[in-house]
Amino acid sequence: QPGDAHPPADVVPAAEQSRPFADPAPRVVVVTGAADGIGAAIAARFVASGDRVAIVDRNGEGAKAQAATLGASAQAFVCDVTDEQAVTDCFAQIVQALGPVDILVNNAAIADAFQPATEQTTADLERVLDVNLTGAFLCARAAIPSLQAGRGVIVNIGSIAGLVPMAPRHAYGASKAGIDILTRCFAAELGPQGIRTATVAPGYIRTPGVAALEKAGRIDSGKIRARIPMGDLGQPQDIAEAVWFLASPGASYVNGTLLSVDGGWNAFG
Ligand code: NDP
Repeated sequence: QPGDAHPPADVVPAAEQSRPFADPAPRVVVVTGAADGIGAAIAARFVASGDRVAIVDRNGEGAKAQAATLGASAQAFVCDVTDEQAVTDCFAQIVQALGPVDILVNNAAIADAFQPATEQTTADLERVLDVNLTGAFLCARAAIPSLQAGRGVIVNIGSIAGLVPMAPRHAYGASKAGIDILTRCFAAELGPQGIRTATVAPGYIRTPGVAALEKAGRIDSGKIRARIPMGDLGQPQDIAEAVWFLASPGASYVNGTLLSVDGGWNAFG
């Protein structure tokens, strides 16, 4: 019988299972693209739970301003995640300043040009894949030597556009679909070392980036709202809470998963 492989002694009494997970000691959290929008909200969430946060962004002034608003637990680091040497140097600086990395949140990303396939340039395709996919890989590769069993977590920020086709967003959608398989590869590779990886896939969220897309006439939030069962766009804090949970001890058996935070869009998209 297959069940014989697991003797009754493996079963933990319910009372013991319901003990709350202890709060972890303060962790070193790296959030990329944290000068603004969702990344800034994620950084703020970890600072609020007593962690030390590296605000990594190519926008140095924005990163410094964001770190200043979060106080002594946050520190700004200027880095373009597509620059391999800059990423290596940045993680070395973070480890020196804050200690070994416990949690990496790969959040930095850019939008594509919303061009029909026949007008999509190779340069734009490469630009988007470089930031959104290669950038996430480079940061993970730099963080992995720091990550410890039972404590190390990588959370990659995907998108509804990686799950539901949103033509003509080929480049962006492909980069975000790639994030999901990157997460699952890391989960399989690093899971045996006690390091977890997960994706949070936001739907449309009220950020300066989305406001700029709407102003440019590239998206229509009225039409978007009509597709969302919960009837509205989300807030950056909605994503921050999901990331925080996935990085917490309460998610210690969650590995390789994708958590949609999109008001239910993906459920029928
Ligand atoms: P924003 O554009 O508001 O912020 C992204 C930040 O990343 C900016 O500060 C940006 O700097 C920075 N950045 C861009 N490229 C690089 C780079 N090469 N190296 C370092 N930093 C970089 O994005 P959002 O807050 O809207 O989105 C955050 C994440 O959530 C992204 O992964 C996005 O794809 C995802 N997402 C967002 C949704 C939304 O509705 N907002 C929906 C689904 C997914 P700069 O200002 O210089 O460009």
